[in-house]
Amino acid sequence: MSNEKIALFTIFGGTGDLAQRKLYPSLFKLYQKGYLKDHFAVIGTARRPWTDDHYHEVISDSLADLNADQETVTQFASHFYYQSHDVTDAEHYRTLKKLSEKLDAQYGLQGNRIFYLAMAPNFFGTIAQHLRSENILTDNGFNRVIIEKPFGHDYESAKELNDQLTATFNENQIYRIDHYLGKEMIQNITAIRFGNNIWESLWNNRYIDNVQITLSEKLGVEERAVYYDNSGALRDMVQNHILQILSLLTMDQPVEFTENDIDVEKVKALRSLRPLKPEEVATNFVRGQYGAGDDAKAYRDEDKISSDSNTDTFVAGKVMIDNYRWSGVPFYIRTGKRLADKFTRIDVVFKRPVVNIFNHEDVRANDDAATSLDPNILTINVEPTEGFELRMNAKAIGQGFATTPVKLNYSHDAEATAGSPEAYERLLHDALNGDATNFTHWQEVADSWKFVDVIQKYWDEHQPEFPNYRPGTMGPDAADELLRQDGHRWVYRN
Ligand code: NAD
Repeated sequence: MSNEKIALFTIFGGTGDLAQRKLYPSLFKLYQKGYLKDHFAVIGTARRPWTDDHYHEVISDSLADLNADQETVTQFASHFYYQSHDVTDAEHYRTLKKLSEKLDAQYGLQGNRIFYLAMAPNFFGTIAQHLRSENILTDNGFNRVIIEKPFGHDYESAKELNDQLTATFNENQIYRIDHYLGKEMIQNITAIRFGNNIWESLWNNRYIDNVQITLSEKLGVEERAVYYDNSGALRDMVQNHILQILSLLTMDQPVEFTENDIDVEKVKALRSLRPLKPEEVATNFVRGQYGAGDDAKAYRDEDKISSDSNTDTFVAGKVMIDNYRWSGVPFYIRTGKRLADKFTRIDVVFKRPVVNIFNHEDVRANDDAATSLDPNILTINVEPTEGFELRMNAKAIGQGFATTPVKLNYSHDAEATAGSPEAYERLLHDALNGDATNFTHWQEVADSWKFVDVIQKYWDEHQPEFPNYRPGTMGPDAADELLRQDGHRWVYRN
Protein backbone atom coordinates (compact mmCIF):
# COMPACT_ATOMS: atom_id res chain seq x y z
CA MET A 1 0.00 0.00 0.00
CA SER A 2 1.28 3.46 -0.83
CA ASN A 3 2.20 5.76 2.02
CA GLU A 4 1.72 8.78 -0.16
CA LYS A 5 -0.10 11.72 1.40
CA ILE A 6 -2.08 14.09 -0.76
CA ALA A 7 -2.29 17.79 0.08
CA LEU A 8 -1.77 21.37 -0.92
CA PHE A 9 0.33 23.25 1.64
CA THR A 10 -0.08 27.00 1.80
CA ILE A 11 2.71 28.49 3.86
CA PHE A 12 2.07 32.02 5.11
CA GLY A 13 5.50 33.50 5.83
CA GLY A 14 7.16 31.45 3.10
CA THR A 15 10.21 33.71 2.97
CA GLY A 16 10.80 33.57 6.72
CA ASP A 17 13.35 31.92 8.96
CA LEU A 18 11.12 29.11 10.21
CA ALA A 19 10.05 28.16 6.69
CA GLN A 20 13.62 28.03 5.42
CA ARG A 21 15.29 26.42 8.41
CA LYS A 22 12.63 23.92 9.42
CA LEU A 23 9.68 23.53 7.06
CA TYR A 24 11.37 23.10 3.67
CA PRO A 25 13.95 20.59 4.93
CA SER A 26 11.21 18.64 6.75
CA LEU A 27 8.96 18.56 3.70
CA PHE A 28 11.94 17.40 1.67
CA LYS A 29 12.61 14.51 4.04
CA LEU A 30 8.97 13.46 3.74
CA TYR A 31 9.48 13.60 -0.03
CA GLN A 32 12.62 11.47 0.15
CA LYS A 33 10.73 8.87 2.17
CA GLY A 34 7.85 8.80 -0.32
CA TYR A 35 5.22 10.32 1.99
CA LEU A 36 5.07 13.23 -0.40
CA LYS A 37 5.37 12.21 -4.02
CA ASP A 38 3.36 13.26 -7.06
CA HIS A 39 0.22 14.56 -5.39
CA PHE A 40 1.42 17.51 -3.38
CA ALA A 41 2.10 21.16 -4.01
CA VAL A 42 3.24 24.06 -1.87
CA ILE A 43 2.29 27.70 -2.20
CA GLY A 44 4.69 29.97 -0.38
CA THR A 45 3.34 33.41 0.38
CA ALA A 46 4.86 36.56 1.84
CA ARG A 47 4.98 40.20 0.86
CA ARG A 48 8.19 40.11 -1.17
CA PRO A 49 7.72 39.99 -4.94
CA TRP A 50 9.62 36.78 -5.66
CA THR A 51 9.35 34.75 -8.86
CA ASP A 52 8.82 30.99 -8.82
CA ASP A 53 12.38 30.57 -10.13
CA HIS A 54 13.82 32.56 -7.28
CA TYR A 55 11.65 30.64 -4.83
CA HIS A 56 13.02 27.37 -6.20
CA GLU A 57 16.55 28.62 -5.57
CA VAL A 58 15.61 29.48 -1.99
CA ILE A 59 14.11 26.00 -1.51
CA SER A 60 17.22 24.43 -2.96
CA ASP A 61 19.50 26.54 -0.72
CA SER A 62 17.48 25.60 2.36
CA LEU A 63 18.31 21.94 1.65
CA ALA A 64 22.04 22.52 1.23
CA ASP A 65 22.97 20.71 4.46
CA LEU A 66 21.13 17.55 3.48
CA ASN A 67 23.56 16.54 0.71
CA ALA A 68 20.75 15.39 -1.53
CA ASP A 69 21.21 14.77 -5.23
CA GLN A 70 20.40 17.75 -7.38
CA GLU A 71 17.85 15.97 -9.54
CA THR A 72 15.69 15.04 -6.55
CA VAL A 73 15.98 18.58 -5.21
CA THR A 74 14.92 20.03 -8.56
CA GLN A 75 11.97 17.66 -8.82
CA PHE A 76 10.92 18.48 -5.26
CA ALA A 77 11.25 22.24 -5.80
CA SER A 78 9.13 22.06 -8.97
CA HIS A 79 6.11 21.45 -6.66
CA PHE A 80 6.62 24.89 -5.07
CA TYR A 81 4.83 28.07 -6.19
CA TYR A 82 5.37 31.55 -4.88
CA GLN A 83 2.61 34.07 -4.46
CA SER A 84 3.29 37.60 -3.31
CA HIS A 85 0.63 38.22 -0.73
CA ASP A 86 -0.22 40.75 1.94
CA VAL A 87 -2.27 38.87 4.50
CA THR A 88 -4.41 41.91 5.23
CA ASP A 89 -5.51 42.41 1.61
CA ALA A 90 -8.68 40.50 0.59
CA GLU A 91 -7.87 40.82 -3.11
CA HIS A 92 -4.72 38.74 -2.60
CA TYR A 93 -6.78 35.85 -1.23
CA ARG A 94 -8.79 35.78 -4.43
CA THR A 95 -5.57 35.26 -6.40
CA LEU A 96 -4.55 32.64 -3.85
CA LYS A 97 -7.86 30.84 -4.31
CA LYS A 98 -7.38 30.68 -8.09
CA LEU A 99 -3.86 29.34 -7.75
CA SER A 100 -5.00 26.80 -5.15
CA GLU A 101 -7.75 25.51 -7.42
CA LYS A 102 -5.39 25.33 -10.39
CA LEU A 103 -2.83 23.33 -8.41
CA ASP A 104 -5.53 21.13 -6.95
CA ALA A 105 -6.58 20.11 -10.46
CA GLN A 106 -3.02 19.90 -11.78
CA TYR A 107 -1.72 17.62 -8.99
CA GLY A 108 -4.94 15.79 -8.13
CA LEU A 109 -5.01 17.12 -4.55
CA GLN A 110 -8.61 16.09 -3.77
CA GLY A 111 -9.38 19.33 -1.95
CA ASN A 112 -6.92 18.54 0.88
CA ARG A 113 -5.50 21.75 2.31
CA ILE A 114 -2.96 22.45 5.02
CA PHE A 115 -2.43 26.09 5.93
CA TYR A 116 0.81 26.70 7.79
CA LEU A 117 0.90 30.05 9.57
CA ALA A 118 4.65 30.65 9.85
CA MET A 119 4.11 34.29 10.75
CA ALA A 120 3.73 36.52 13.75
CA PRO A 121 0.58 35.45 15.66
CA ASN A 122 -1.02 38.88 15.37
CA PHE A 123 -1.76 37.92 11.75
CA PHE A 124 -3.43 34.57 12.56
CA GLY A 125 -6.87 36.10 13.09
CA THR A 126 -6.92 38.02 9.83
CA ILE A 127 -5.62 35.04 7.84
CA ALA A 128 -8.22 32.69 9.30
CA GLN A 129 -11.00 35.19 8.68
CA HIS A 130 -9.99 35.75 5.05
CA LEU A 131 -9.62 32.03 4.37
CA ARG A 132 -13.28 31.72 5.29
CA SER A 133 -14.65 34.93 3.75
CA GLU A 134 -12.83 34.33 0.45
CA ASN A 135 -13.93 30.68 0.35
CA ILE A 136 -10.49 29.17 0.22
CA LEU A 137 -11.50 26.24 2.39
CA THR A 138 -12.73 23.24 0.45
CA ASP A 139 -15.63 20.95 1.20
CA ASN A 140 -14.43 17.92 -0.70
CA GLY A 141 -11.17 17.37 1.26
CA PHE A 142 -9.65 18.20 4.63
CA ASN A 143 -8.74 21.69 5.84
CA ARG A 144 -6.15 21.94 8.63
CA VAL A 145 -4.30 24.90 10.01
CA ILE A 146 -0.91 24.59 11.69
CA ILE A 147 0.15 27.41 13.94
CA GLU A 148 3.34 28.30 15.72
CA LYS A 149 4.06 29.46 19.20
CA PRO A 150 3.53 31.78 20.92
CA PHE A 151 -0.18 31.10 21.37
CA GLY A 152 -1.00 34.37 23.11
CA HIS A 153 1.01 36.06 25.84
CA ASP A 154 -1.50 35.41 28.61
CA TYR A 155 -4.83 33.65 28.98
CA GLU A 156 -6.89 36.59 27.70
CA SER A 157 -4.87 37.08 24.51
CA ALA A 158 -4.73 33.32 23.92
CA LYS A 159 -8.50 33.14 24.23
CA GLU A 160 -8.94 36.01 21.82
CA LEU A 161 -6.63 34.31 19.34
CA ASN A 162 -8.48 31.05 19.77
CA ASP A 163 -11.84 32.73 19.21
CA GLN A 164 -10.51 34.20 15.97
CA LEU A 165 -9.29 30.82 14.78
CA THR A 166 -12.39 28.92 15.80
CA ALA A 167 -14.57 31.35 13.83
CA THR A 168 -13.09 29.55 10.79
CA PHE A 169 -11.71 26.21 11.99
CA ASN A 170 -13.01 23.57 14.38
CA GLU A 171 -10.74 22.56 17.23
CA ASN A 172 -9.98 19.29 15.44
CA GLN A 173 -8.71 21.23 12.41
CA ILE A 174 -6.28 23.32 14.48
CA TYR A 175 -2.76 21.96 14.97
CA ARG A 176 -0.85 24.01 17.54
CA ILE A 177 2.82 23.17 17.25
CA ASP A 178 4.90 22.50 20.34
CA HIS A 179 8.04 21.07 18.83
CA TYR A 180 9.03 19.39 22.10
CA LEU A 181 6.08 17.06 21.53
CA GLY A 182 7.76 15.98 18.30
CA LYS A 183 10.93 14.89 20.10
CA GLU A 184 11.70 11.20 20.26
CA MET A 185 12.28 11.05 24.02
CA ILE A 186 9.27 13.18 24.92
CA GLN A 187 7.12 10.74 22.97
CA ASN A 188 8.96 7.98 24.81
CA ILE A 189 7.60 9.17 28.19
CA THR A 190 4.27 7.54 27.42
CA ALA A 191 5.97 4.35 26.23
CA ILE A 192 8.09 3.83 29.32
CA ARG A 193 5.33 4.79 31.71
CA PHE A 194 2.54 2.69 30.29
CA GLY A 195 4.61 -0.05 28.72
CA ASN A 196 6.40 -1.15 31.89
CA ASN A 197 4.71 -2.47 34.97
CA ILE A 198 7.69 -1.59 37.15
CA TRP A 199 7.40 2.08 36.36
CA GLU A 200 3.67 2.57 36.35
CA SER A 201 3.37 0.70 39.67
CA LEU A 202 5.85 3.07 41.28
CA TRP A 203 4.71 6.23 39.49
CA ASN A 204 3.07 7.97 42.42
CA ASN A 205 3.65 9.74 45.73
CA ARG A 206 4.30 6.51 47.67
CA TYR A 207 7.53 5.92 45.82
CA ILE A 208 8.52 9.16 44.12
CA ASP A 209 10.14 11.85 46.21
CA ASN A 210 10.43 14.62 43.64
CA VAL A 211 10.70 15.15 39.89
CA GLN A 212 13.00 17.62 38.14
CA ILE A 213 12.59 18.93 34.61
CA THR A 214 15.46 20.94 33.13
CA LEU A 215 15.50 22.61 29.70
CA SER A 216 18.91 24.22 29.61
CA GLU A 217 20.27 26.42 26.84
CA LYS A 218 23.85 27.48 26.44
CA LEU A 219 23.28 30.31 23.99
CA GLY A 220 22.01 33.76 24.82
CA VAL A 221 19.10 35.50 23.19
CA GLU A 222 20.65 35.55 19.67
CA GLU A 223 18.49 36.82 16.80
CA ARG A 224 15.12 36.46 18.54
CA ALA A 225 15.83 39.46 20.80
CA VAL A 226 12.77 41.58 20.03
CA TYR A 227 10.34 38.69 20.48
CA TYR A 228 12.16 37.32 23.51
CA ASP A 229 12.34 40.59 25.36
CA ASN A 230 8.55 40.81 25.24
CA SER A 231 8.19 37.25 26.36
CA GLY A 232 10.85 35.95 28.76
CA ALA A 233 11.59 32.40 29.84
CA LEU A 234 8.35 31.83 31.74
CA ARG A 235 6.15 32.57 28.75
CA ASP A 236 8.55 31.24 26.13
CA MET A 237 9.34 27.87 27.75
CA VAL A 238 7.26 27.12 30.84
CA GLN A 239 3.73 27.85 29.64
CA ASN A 240 4.13 25.52 26.69
CA HIS A 241 7.05 23.05 26.62
CA ILE A 242 7.59 22.48 30.34
CA LEU A 243 3.92 22.21 31.27
CA GLN A 244 3.37 19.90 28.31
CA ILE A 245 6.19 17.65 29.52
CA LEU A 246 4.80 17.82 33.04
CA SER A 247 1.36 16.77 31.84
CA LEU A 248 2.82 13.73 30.03
CA LEU A 249 4.78 12.77 33.14
CA THR A 250 1.85 13.09 35.51
CA MET A 251 -1.28 12.18 33.58
CA ASP A 252 -3.20 9.03 34.42
CA GLN A 253 -3.27 6.17 31.99
CA PRO A 254 -5.34 7.04 28.91
CA VAL A 255 -7.98 4.40 28.15
CA GLU A 256 -6.49 3.99 24.69
CA PHE A 257 -3.50 5.50 22.98
CA THR A 258 -5.61 7.94 21.00
CA GLU A 259 -5.57 11.70 20.61
CA ASN A 260 -8.81 12.23 22.52
CA ASP A 261 -8.03 9.89 25.40
CA ILE A 262 -4.56 11.39 25.86
CA ASP A 263 -5.92 14.93 25.70
CA VAL A 264 -8.51 14.11 28.38
CA GLU A 265 -5.78 12.88 30.75
CA LYS A 266 -3.40 15.77 30.02
CA VAL A 267 -6.14 18.29 30.72
CA LYS A 268 -6.96 16.56 34.01
CA ALA A 269 -3.29 16.73 35.00
CA LEU A 270 -3.02 20.43 34.11
CA ARG A 271 -6.23 21.26 35.92
CA SER A 272 -4.81 19.58 39.01
CA LEU A 273 -1.83 21.95 39.17
CA ARG A 274 -2.09 23.76 42.47
CA PRO A 275 -2.69 27.41 41.53
CA LEU A 276 -0.33 29.79 43.26
CA LYS A 277 -1.63 32.68 45.30
CA PRO A 278 0.23 35.90 44.47
CA GLU A 279 1.96 35.87 47.86
CA GLU A 280 3.25 32.34 47.17
CA VAL A 281 5.02 33.25 43.92
CA ALA A 282 8.18 34.59 45.54
CA THR A 283 8.71 31.43 47.60
CA ASN A 284 7.87 28.97 44.82
CA PHE A 285 9.34 30.61 41.72
CA VAL A 286 12.73 32.13 41.01
CA ARG A 287 13.51 34.34 38.04
CA GLY A 288 16.87 35.29 36.70
CA GLN A 289 18.63 37.31 34.05
CA TYR A 290 22.19 36.72 32.92
CA GLY A 291 24.91 39.25 33.52
CA ALA A 292 28.20 39.46 31.67
CA GLY A 293 30.59 36.53 31.59
CA ASP A 294 34.22 36.15 30.60
CA ASP A 295 33.38 36.22 26.93
CA ALA A 296 29.65 36.81 26.91
CA LYS A 297 27.66 40.02 27.01
CA ALA A 298 25.09 40.65 29.71
CA TYR A 299 21.50 40.26 28.52
CA ARG A 300 20.95 44.00 28.91
CA ASP A 301 23.89 44.67 26.57
CA GLU A 302 22.65 42.37 23.82
CA ASP A 303 21.55 43.88 20.50
CA LYS A 304 18.01 45.29 20.53
CA ILE A 305 17.61 44.78 24.30
CA SER A 306 17.09 47.86 26.44
CA SER A 307 19.67 48.51 29.12
CA ASP A 308 17.04 48.36 31.87
CA SER A 309 15.15 45.32 30.63
CA ASN A 310 13.59 43.21 33.38
CA THR A 311 12.88 40.23 31.16
CA ASP A 312 13.53 36.85 32.75
CA THR A 313 16.09 34.72 30.90
CA PHE A 314 15.86 32.05 33.62
CA VAL A 315 13.08 30.56 35.64
CA ALA A 316 12.96 27.83 38.24
CA GLY A 317 9.88 26.80 40.13
CA LYS A 318 8.21 24.30 42.36
CA VAL A 319 4.91 22.98 41.12
CA MET A 320 2.53 20.84 43.15
CA ILE A 321 -0.24 18.66 41.81
CA ASP A 322 -3.32 18.17 43.93
CA ASN A 323 -4.56 14.68 43.29
CA TYR A 324 -4.24 11.27 44.95
CA ARG A 325 -1.35 10.20 42.76
CA TRP A 326 0.84 13.25 43.27
CA SER A 327 -0.17 14.94 46.48
CA GLY A 328 3.00 15.97 48.34
CA VAL A 329 5.44 15.41 45.45
CA PRO A 330 7.21 18.58 44.32
CA PHE A 331 7.92 18.99 40.62
CA TYR A 332 10.90 21.25 40.21
CA ILE A 333 11.26 22.89 36.82
CA ARG A 334 13.94 25.14 35.40
CA THR A 335 14.97 26.62 32.11
CA GLY A 336 17.19 29.44 31.02
CA LYS A 337 19.62 30.92 28.57
CA ARG A 338 23.40 31.11 28.89
CA LEU A 339 23.46 28.18 31.28
CA ALA A 340 26.23 25.62 31.72
CA ASP A 341 25.30 23.45 28.78
CA LYS A 342 22.61 22.70 26.22
CA PHE A 343 20.44 19.76 27.24
CA THR A 344 16.99 18.66 28.25
CA ARG A 345 16.52 16.04 30.94
CA ILE A 346 13.97 14.75 33.40
CA ASP A 347 15.09 13.29 36.73
CA VAL A 348 12.61 11.19 38.65
CA VAL A 349 13.96 10.88 42.19
CA PHE A 350 12.55 7.95 44.15
CA LYS A 351 12.26 7.78 47.91
CA ARG A 352 15.18 6.29 49.76
CA PRO A 353 14.84 2.85 51.35
CA VAL A 354 13.21 3.29 54.76
CA VAL A 355 15.88 1.28 56.59
CA ASN A 356 19.57 1.01 55.95
CA ILE A 357 20.38 -2.49 57.18
CA PHE A 358 23.98 -1.99 56.17
CA ASN A 359 24.52 0.74 58.67
CA HIS A 360 22.48 0.57 61.86
CA GLU A 361 24.17 3.62 63.30
CA ASP A 362 22.80 5.53 60.40
CA VAL A 363 19.23 4.45 61.19
CA ARG A 364 19.58 5.38 64.85
CA ALA A 365 21.12 8.73 64.04
CA ASN A 366 18.22 9.69 61.83
CA ASP A 367 14.82 10.51 63.19
CA ASP A 368 13.72 10.76 59.64
CA ALA A 369 12.55 7.49 58.10
CA ALA A 370 14.78 8.00 55.06
CA THR A 371 18.32 6.71 55.35
CA SER A 372 21.59 7.84 53.94
CA LEU A 373 21.37 5.29 51.13
CA ASP A 374 21.24 7.11 47.82
CA PRO A 375 17.82 7.37 46.20
CA ASN A 376 17.11 5.57 42.94
CA ILE A 377 16.94 8.10 40.15
CA LEU A 378 15.47 7.50 36.73
CA THR A 379 16.82 10.06 34.29
CA ILE A 380 15.19 10.55 30.92
CA ASN A 381 17.73 12.22 28.66
CA VAL A 382 15.79 14.08 26.00
CA GLU A 383 18.64 15.83 24.18
CA PRO A 384 21.36 15.87 23.01
CA THR A 385 21.78 12.33 24.37
CA GLU A 386 18.60 10.34 23.92
CA GLY A 387 18.12 7.59 26.47
CA PHE A 388 17.62 6.55 30.08
CA GLU A 389 19.77 6.20 33.11
CA LEU A 390 18.89 4.44 36.35
CA ARG A 391 20.86 4.92 39.54
CA MET A 392 20.85 2.04 42.00
CA ASN A 393 22.72 1.04 45.11
CA ALA A 394 24.89 -2.06 44.82
CA LYS A 395 27.65 -3.70 46.78
CA ALA A 396 31.02 -2.09 46.34
CA ILE A 397 33.51 -4.56 44.90
CA GLY A 398 35.95 -6.06 47.40
CA GLN A 399 36.28 -7.13 51.00
CA GLY A 400 33.80 -6.07 53.62
CA PHE A 401 30.36 -4.74 52.86
CA ALA A 402 29.78 -1.26 51.67
CA THR A 403 27.20 -0.04 49.20
CA THR A 404 27.95 2.18 46.29
CA PRO A 405 25.71 3.85 43.70
CA VAL A 406 25.91 2.36 40.18
CA LYS A 407 24.25 3.40 36.94
CA LEU A 408 22.34 1.43 34.36
CA ASN A 409 22.60 3.26 31.11
CA TYR A 410 20.77 3.08 27.83
CA SER A 411 21.03 5.49 24.97
CA HIS A 412 19.83 5.22 21.41
CA ASP A 413 22.78 4.57 19.18
CA ALA A 414 23.80 7.33 16.83
CA GLU A 415 23.00 5.27 13.74
CA ALA A 416 19.40 4.67 14.81
CA THR A 417 18.81 8.32 15.68
CA ALA A 418 20.52 9.64 12.56
CA GLY A 419 17.68 8.30 10.39
CA SER A 420 14.95 9.18 12.86
CA PRO A 421 12.79 12.13 11.91
CA GLU A 422 13.39 15.54 13.37
CA ALA A 423 10.52 17.08 15.38
CA TYR A 424 9.11 19.18 12.54
CA GLU A 425 9.20 16.29 10.08
CA ARG A 426 7.34 14.08 12.52
CA LEU A 427 4.75 16.73 13.27
CA LEU A 428 4.13 17.59 9.61
CA HIS A 429 3.61 13.91 8.94
CA ASP A 430 1.15 13.70 11.84
CA ALA A 431 -0.75 16.70 10.48
CA LEU A 432 -0.95 15.05 7.04
CA ASN A 433 -2.38 11.98 8.77
CA GLY A 434 -4.91 14.03 10.72
CA ASP A 435 -3.33 12.95 14.00
CA ALA A 436 -3.13 15.80 16.51
CA THR A 437 -1.95 13.66 19.45
CA ASN A 438 1.38 15.47 19.56
CA PHE A 439 -0.09 18.94 19.20
CA THR A 440 -1.45 21.13 21.96
CA HIS A 441 -5.18 21.34 22.39
CA TRP A 442 -7.00 24.48 23.42
CA GLN A 443 -7.97 23.40 26.92
CA GLU A 444 -4.32 22.54 27.65
CA VAL A 445 -3.24 25.98 26.43
CA ALA A 446 -5.93 27.68 28.50
CA ASP A 447 -5.08 25.84 31.73
CA SER A 448 -1.35 26.41 31.26
CA TRP A 449 -1.80 30.14 30.79
CA LYS A 450 -4.02 30.41 33.85
CA PHE A 451 -1.28 28.82 35.92
CA VAL A 452 1.49 30.98 34.48
CA ASP A 453 -0.44 34.27 34.49
CA VAL A 454 -0.38 34.50 38.31
CA ILE A 455 3.41 34.25 38.33
CA GLN A 456 3.91 36.71 35.49
CA LYS A 457 1.53 39.23 37.08
CA TYR A 458 3.35 39.06 40.40
CA TRP A 459 6.68 39.52 38.64
CA ASP A 460 5.37 42.46 36.62
CA GLU A 461 4.35 44.15 39.86
CA HIS A 462 7.64 43.54 41.69
CA GLN A 463 11.03 44.78 40.53
CA PRO A 464 13.68 42.08 40.23
CA GLU A 465 17.31 42.52 41.11
CA PHE A 466 18.85 41.78 37.74
CA PRO A 467 21.28 40.62 36.56
CA ASN A 468 21.58 37.79 39.06
CA TYR A 469 23.48 34.93 37.42
CA ARG A 470 26.69 34.45 35.52
CA PRO A 471 26.80 32.81 32.10
CA GLY A 472 27.97 29.21 32.29
CA THR A 473 26.27 28.50 35.63
CA MET A 474 22.90 26.85 36.29
CA GLY A 475 21.20 30.13 37.16
CA PRO A 476 20.91 32.18 40.34
CA ASP A 477 21.69 30.71 43.78
CA ALA A 478 18.04 31.12 44.68
CA ALA A 479 17.26 28.26 42.27
CA ASP A 480 19.37 25.93 44.44
CA GLU A 481 17.87 27.38 47.60
CA LEU A 482 14.39 26.58 46.27
CA LEU A 483 15.19 22.87 46.61
CA ARG A 484 17.42 23.18 49.66
CA GLN A 485 14.54 24.57 51.71
CA ASP A 486 12.68 21.29 51.02
CA GLY A 487 15.75 19.17 51.81
CA HIS A 488 16.35 18.41 48.13
CA ARG A 489 18.91 19.32 45.51
CA TRP A 490 19.14 19.37 41.76
CA VAL A 491 20.37 16.07 40.38
CA TYR A 492 22.18 17.90 37.59
CA ARG A 493 24.61 20.45 39.02
CA ASN A 494 27.63 21.93 37.35
P1 NAD B 1 10.25 35.74 10.15
O1 NAD B 1 10.16 37.16 10.58
O2 NAD B 1 11.55 35.20 9.68
O3 NAD B 1 9.20 35.50 8.99
C1 NAD B 1 7.93 36.12 8.98
C2 NAD B 1 7.30 35.96 7.59
O4 NAD B 1 6.07 36.66 7.56
C3 NAD B 1 8.15 36.49 6.45
O5 NAD B 1 8.02 35.58 5.37
C4 NAD B 1 7.45 37.82 6.12
O6 NAD B 1 7.62 38.22 4.79
C5 NAD B 1 6.02 37.46 6.37
N1 NAD B 1 5.15 38.62 6.60
C6 NAD B 1 5.25 39.57 7.55
N2 NAD B 1 4.24 40.46 7.44
C7 NAD B 1 3.47 40.06 6.41
C8 NAD B 1 2.26 40.52 5.80
N3 NAD B 1 1.61 41.62 6.24
N4 NAD B 1 1.77 39.83 4.77
C9 NAD B 1 2.38 38.73 4.31
N5 NAD B 1 3.52 38.23 4.83
C10 NAD B 1 4.05 38.89 5.86
O7 NAD B 1 9.65 34.88 11.35
P2 NAD B 1 9.95 33.34 11.68
O8 NAD B 1 11.13 33.26 12.56
O9 NAD B 1 9.92 32.53 10.44
O10 NAD B 1 8.71 32.97 12.61
C11 NAD B 1 7.40 32.74 12.10
C12 NAD B 1 6.50 32.26 13.24
O11 NAD B 1 7.05 31.08 13.79
C13 NAD B 1 6.39 33.23 14.41
O12 NAD B 1 5.11 33.06 14.95
C14 NAD B 1 7.42 32.73 15.40
O13 NAD B 1 7.11 33.08 16.72
C15 NAD B 1 7.29 31.25 15.18
N6 NAD B 1 8.48 30.48 15.57
C16 NAD B 1 9.63 30.59 14.87
C17 NAD B 1 10.72 29.84 15.23
C18 NAD B 1 12.01 29.90 14.45
O14 NAD B 1 12.87 29.04 14.70
N7 NAD B 1 12.18 30.83 13.54
C19 NAD B 1 10.63 28.97 16.32
C20 NAD B 1 9.44 28.88 17.02
C21 NAD B 1 8.37 29.63 16.62
